[in-house]
Amino acid sequence: MDALKDIDKPYAEAERIAPLVRRVLARNPSPFTYTGTQTYIVGDGADVAVIDPGPAEDEHIAAILSAVGKARIAAICCTHTHRDHSPAAAPLQALTGAPVVGCAALTLEDDGPRADAAFDPDYRPDRVLQDGETIGGDGWTLEAVATPGHTSNHVCFALPETGAMFTGDHVMGWSTSVVSPPDGDMTDYLASLQKLYEREQDSVYFPAHGPAVEKPRQLVRGMIGHRRQRERQILKQIEAGHGTVAAMVPQMYKGVDNRLWPAAGRSVLAHLLDLERRSLVTRHDDDWSLALTEQ
Ligand SMILES: [Zn+2]
Repeated sequence: MDALKDIDKPYAEAERIAPLVRRVLARNPSPFTYTGTQTYIVGDGADVAVIDPGPAEDEHIAAILSAVGKARIAAICCTHTHRDHSPAAAPLQALTGAPVVGCAALTLEDDGPRADAAFDPDYRPDRVLQDGETIGGDGWTLEAVATPGHTSNHVCFALPETGAMFTGDHVMGWSTSVVSPPDGDMTDYLASLQKLYEREQDSVYFPAHGPAVEKPRQLVRGMIGHRRQRERQILKQIEAGHGTVAAMVPQMYKGVDNRLWPAAGRSVLAHLLDLERRSLVTRHDDDWSLALTEQ
């Protein structure tokens, strides 16, 4: 657990981690958030951006404000609207008047299929950044890089001045991302990995959870390979007669903390839906089988 120790710095204290970048760790550790959500403060001049303000906890918000000091918050930027990322946007805005900029709100059709307990339904952006759009402040620029997959509204933020990329939950060094249908989409997720892989200008990733990633393209290439391997495992499970997600997960995630199995099951389902879209598998209710290919 050395990697964990490395980033297990005191909660609620700003720490300089790179040029233009400071980090404040929220006290919300869990099997899904590692040591907690990392809020990044970008900029050292008259104004700053706050990326992923995190959970709406008083201690965390006070730590962000103390780190920002006399600077103006030019933008509160959220990568996506899971509850460990965006809820502090509203109280931070109320306290400072800063605009909320970045990912779109999820359009939850009433309580429809994409509504999920993990989402922050109160997120209200003042401005949604489309892919490639930028905002800027005193000595910094942030470019939105649309990366749907973990969630449909996920956005990463590039800082071209230094080659840093804030990857939210899209790419993390300590764990693979959960991709949970119907909002999470494995086809989109893989395309978004490929999109980051093709960006040669990014030299370091700062994920919302876990340590910085120093050789990001190498990691992303490995992650794409890992997903392809999972795919092959799933096809083998089906071949071996394990046609349901419930039957596959204990086989595929033997060494993994079984508190994570339900989330793993969501990712397996996401893979199956991707494979179905590619006409490699078919489903009858919860039972999946290999598609008969005509060749
Ligand atoms: Zn998330």
